[in-house]
Amino acid sequence: MGWKERKAVRKKVASDRVKELLKSSELHKNDEILSTNSIKTAVAISRRHKIRISSKFKRKFCKKCFTVFIPNKTVRVRTGKGKVTFTCLNCGNIKRIPYLKEKKIQSNIKIES
Ligand SMILES: [Zn+2]
Repeated sequence: MGWKERKAVRKKVASDRVKELLKSSELHKNDEILSTNSIKTAVAISRRHKIRISSKFKRKFCKKCFTVFIPNKTVRVRTGKGKVTFTCLNCGNIKRIPYLKEKKIQSNIKIES
């Protein structure tokens, strides 16, 4: 096996691990420590291997403190002026997504699933 193939295999393994961690963070979203740790590890792996976390998942946690977003519990979601605003109730980080993009993401999700 050449180095290129080995690298591809490593990347595949890493990306599977990232997906697993993101799933586990969803599964354990009521366990703050466990879910936050899963996200932290997933982000660390994805950075190391230059794996992109899908936008579907990116909107599910705070990229600042890695808290899993639970509407009305850990995040406040507001829509208006063509934007969707996510306010992390843990660290106060604000994330804004243009509504059009949001719509596009939503339809992408529908296609994916
Ligand atoms: Zn936060």
